[in-house]
Amino acid sequence: MTKKYLYSPWRIDYILGEKPDDCVMCRAMASQQDQENLIVYRAKFSYIMLNRYPYNNGHLMIVPYVHKSALNDLDLQTWQEVTELIRVCEKAFKLAYHPEGINIGINLGSAAGAGIAEHVHIHMVPRWNADSNFMSVIGGERVIPEAFESTFNKLRDAILRVMNDNG
Ligand SMILES: [Zn+2]
Repeated sequence: MTKKYLYSPWRIDYILGEKPDDCVMCRAMASQQDQENLIVYRAKFSYIMLNRYPYNNGHLMIVPYVHKSALNDLDLQTWQEVTELIRVCEKAFKLAYHPEGINIGINLGSAAGAGIAEHVHIHMVPRWNADSNFMSVIGGERVIPEAFESTFNKLRDAILRVMNDNG
């Protein structure tokens, strides 16, 4: 059996050229365009962004600023802030969406389903009894009736309100 190769001479520029840091999480963090990148909140060691390919309305991700693939590679301050942001987002979901449940999940490694395995992040998805079950949700079924702009504003306002209330 002969192996076939795609002949793409323009790729030599890419192969020999300097590699861009192609991490979506790092790129969003470095950009100033928070709304465009769906970053709803920036904390000291981490930020909160909407998932561009959400499993449900309001699907958030909490992302440490550091580019690490394992929870144990995060320093304690970062980990503490990330876990505190989980509680902030729980409250913000309740204010903005009154969900009947919330899925909170971390996929470590692509074998576990991580889309961006090299930069650890925590998913938070508001749920309602009328939703399809979680397995069919993570299986790729996506029903997103609300526009990103509306979700962005609603969740940003709710997060800021929770932050204010928490002092
Ligand atoms: Zn990264």
